[in-house]
Amino acid sequence: TPVSPAHKRILLKLSGEALMGDDAFGINRATIVRMVEEIAEVTRLGAQVAVVIGGGNIFRGVAGGSVGMDRATADYMGMLATVMNALALADAMDKQGLTARVMSAIAIEQVVEPYVRPKALQYLEEGKVVVFAAGTGNPFFTTDTAAALRGAEIGAEVVLKATKVDGVYTADPHKDPTATRYSKLSFDEAMSRNLGIMDATAFALCRDQRLPVRVFSIIKHGALKRVVMGEDEGTLVYA
Ligand code: UDP
Repeated sequence: TPVSPAHKRILLKLSGEALMGDDAFGINRATIVRMVEEIAEVTRLGAQVAVVIGGGNIFRGVAGGSVGMDRATADYMGMLATVMNALALADAMDKQGLTARVMSAIAIEQVVEPYVRPKALQYLEEGKVVVFAAGTGNPFFTTDTAAALRGAEIGAEVVLKATKVDGVYTADPHKDPTATRYSKLSFDEAMSRNLGIMDATAFALCRDQRLPVRVFSIIKHGALKRVVMGEDEGTLVYA
């Protein structure tokens, strides 16, 4: 008998760095393929998956290559970087038997279709994976905020923030051997302890909309599946 997932609709936030693997920048194909396998597994369980993809592996508007640039211009470059990542991700998904649809917050119609909420909902109902590109479409925001926004818009039950660490720790586990992982904590606790899970705008949006965030490791095999099955994996941040 098929087991039904605890979460029927999820918003998965993948940072640009997640696509780099062990490379210094850019897109590591093997890493993407592994990630897509994890995503394919949860769609087979019947979960609807929407992805917000970052762009930090290619361009980051507030640091690095943008020094001296106009902030808004640099941010538009960052958003375009997320479109490249979205194309790579969707390509890998299609090759691995998933049907992916990229929707951009910035009009770029010869390349990908624009974000239209009812259409995104329709794709999700049809079992397609929707990849949201170009963040929120606005400078001065981040793809974490886009994840909170799209998550709320599509009625996702949870925002899954994929990181390289398997949750939120009391201190940096690489520096402090006594650091322990939180199984869960409230938004208020996370804010008062300054744990830096997401930027403040993203965090405030999730808290106000009572949209829980689960931080988990995307490189730990099977972790995404356990999260979708409702198992104690990573750290749950709740309102
Ligand atoms: N960005 C933006 N508005 C958005 C989302 C992203 O201006 O709504 C720009 C911003 O410059 C950011 C870059 O795109 O630095 C890449 O996004 P982000 O840093 O969130 O990517 P990640 O860290 O997840 O790879």
